[in-house]
Amino acid sequence: MGIEVKGISKFYGTQQALKEISFEINTGEIVGFLGPNGAGKSTTMKILTGYLPASEGIAKINGLDITTDKLKLQQQIGYLPEHNPLYLEMYVREYLAFNAKVYKTLKEEIEKVIELTGLTPEANKKIGELSKGYRQRVGLANALLHNPSVLILDEPTTGLDPNQLVEIRELIKKIGKEKTIFLSTHIMQEVEAVCDRVIIINNGEIVADKKLKELTEDNQQTVVVEFDY
Ligand code: ATP
Repeated sequence: MGIEVKGISKFYGTQQALKEISFEINTGEIVGFLGPNGAGKSTTMKILTGYLPASEGIAKINGLDITTDKLKLQQQIGYLPEHNPLYLEMYVREYLAFNAKVYKTLKEEIEKVIELTGLTPEANKKIGELSKGYRQRVGLANALLHNPSVLILDEPTTGLDPNQLVEIRELIKKIGKEKTIFLSTHIMQEVEAVCDRVIIINNGEIVADKKLKELTEDNQQTVVVEFDY
């Protein structure tokens, strides 16, 4: 199993952001986490990546417990946060090489990631000179530096123009041929373009968990109307 979540709740003070959510993601699946603003997507992702503790419940990634096996899991998870901090003054290759030091990634491996993410022509430019789409590629490259088997991508296409959006979705699909991917979005079309399955969250609760095929067969209309963006 790629990701297993059982009865996770999260309280921020007295406010409950997640209400005993449970779901499973098979190894190799690309699963969309769909929900409106404030539904609990980022909170779930921060818990899975170890940035936030859950208030209740357990979660495992590749069979490892997110709290007790945290160090081992850092090697196995790649994370693209919603607001990815990038050093705009740094050059793309320099930035990736700097971050790769933590993982002792070899130079050839960094070059492979640069190539995979389509950054070769931009690798000697400053991050600040790049378009939003290319900056997002840098974020993806950064998440891939240690060759993780699971990628957690928090709203990876937010703020991109239509061309960049299509390109980043294609890139995620390409990367997903070899990895388990859990990506959040509030756009149903994104799920349709990229994912095998969708888990829908609203107000801290999982309200649907369906394969894309099932969704088109039955209640797609209901879902689209419910989150009418
Ligand atoms: P978005 O699409 O806007 O990123 P989301 O689905 O990722 O939304 P979360 O960011 O997980 O939602 O937020 C879930 C709920 O928890 C919201 O009501 C939000 O206001 C609240 N929340 C999130 N972070 C905090 C925090 N650090 N302190 C207090 N409340 C928070």
